[in-house]
Amino acid sequence: MSAAAENQKGSIMEHHRLSSLEHIDLNNRYAAPNYAPLDVVLTRGEGSWLWDVEGRKYLDMLSGYSAVNFGHCNHRFVRTATDQLKRLTMTSRSFFSDQMGPLLQELCDLAGMERCLLMNTGAEAVETAIKAARRWGYEVKKVRPNRAEIIVFGGNFHGRTTTIISFSDSPESQRDFGPLTPGFVMVPYGNLDAVRSAITADTVAVLVEPIQGEGGVIIPPEGFLRSLRQLCREERVLFVADEIQTGLCRTGKVFACEHEEVHPDMYILGKSLGGGIVPISAVLASGEILDLLIPGSHGSTFGGNPFACAIARDVVAYIKEERPEDTSAYLGSYLLNQLRQLRLSNVIELRGRGLFLGIDVNHSAGKAKEFCHRLKDRGILCKDTRTYTIRLSPPLVTRKDDLDWALEQIKAVLER
Ligand code: PLP
Repeated sequence: MSAAAENQKGSIMEHHRLSSLEHIDLNNRYAAPNYAPLDVVLTRGEGSWLWDVEGRKYLDMLSGYSAVNFGHCNHRFVRTATDQLKRLTMTSRSFFSDQMGPLLQELCDLAGMERCLLMNTGAEAVETAIKAARRWGYEVKKVRPNRAEIIVFGGNFHGRTTTIISFSDSPESQRDFGPLTPGFVMVPYGNLDAVRSAITADTVAVLVEPIQGEGGVIIPPEGFLRSLRQLCREERVLFVADEIQTGLCRTGKVFACEHEEVHPDMYILGKSLGGGIVPISAVLASGEILDLLIPGSHGSTFGGNPFACAIARDVVAYIKEERPEDTSAYLGSYLLNQLRQLRLSNVIELRGRGLFLGIDVNHSAGKAKEFCHRLKDRGILCKDTRTYTIRLSPPLVTRKDDLDWALEQIKAVLER
């Protein structure tokens, strides 16, 4: 190793020896303050456990917002990643690779779709779906030029690009980021009549999270997704399911749409598709829709790179072999039932599907974030969403006795 490389290695190791407070200070000094993390500096993860730089151990009950559904440093994915790392990592889409074709086929099989387009982050995949839906609207449905409308829901979260925040109802997501992108119509989540009234001759798609994650783990009324599917079919409007957070086994099914036996026109996937190792996202749909994205219309330098594809292929194989959705369903209903039985005085509502739970805290008891701080002090890492909701989404590989331990900590913090 050269002297320069030795020096570089030395300085990286030095950073490993900084205390949590020193790391936080570096962040406070140099980072744009667009996040407000809990005061914990993590350095290692295995399965559902994380360790901070002082060696304290935490149970992860967030899973990187469901990017780590199958556990931290999952040995199987690490092996696949390491093998691929030594073989080929990046080609661009100017050439084919031996990883992308097989992944496309395996993902289409998993989702019951004909075509797949690979991107990197969730927001990019949502943008892709919006572009595909608009183009389908103009070229197939023949809506008026530049008048395509997409129906979205109050409380939605689909990412942070300028177009996506244009249809957010969270004021801080939009403030001073205008001018915003037109072409979106918002209706209340779970309200079929509102969707029906909002549909016009220019409507090309309805973009829906089957369960709203960032919105507070909001489960729509029973039958809503099924009726929405039917309505979209009748009105010739695309049903686009954003399963970036709910998909890939988080809610007790491979896709959350399956809870109502719904097959959408488009699936949007991300997060756990990369096995917690690499960003990779996907849009899946019919040839009628995705074949409209001809060369020059859309793309991404890193989209479909062989490194990410190799890992995603192993993720799909893991899902088929291990059926993590069953573990999610079993452990999720166990956790929800146990929480209900605790009758916690600071909790006003509990809901969940699979290992995807929302706990609404009593407003007079404090904000969810304060409870997350106290849970962290007891070795549980989770995050508030929408001021008064704690979201619990532990890795699907979490052991039942670890959940029992977590229940004791939650009880201690959420009981007056
Ligand atoms: N869509 C949903 C439903 C999400 O939950 C998220 C992220 O939380 C996104 C899209 C955006 O994904 P990303 O942060 O990878 O851009």
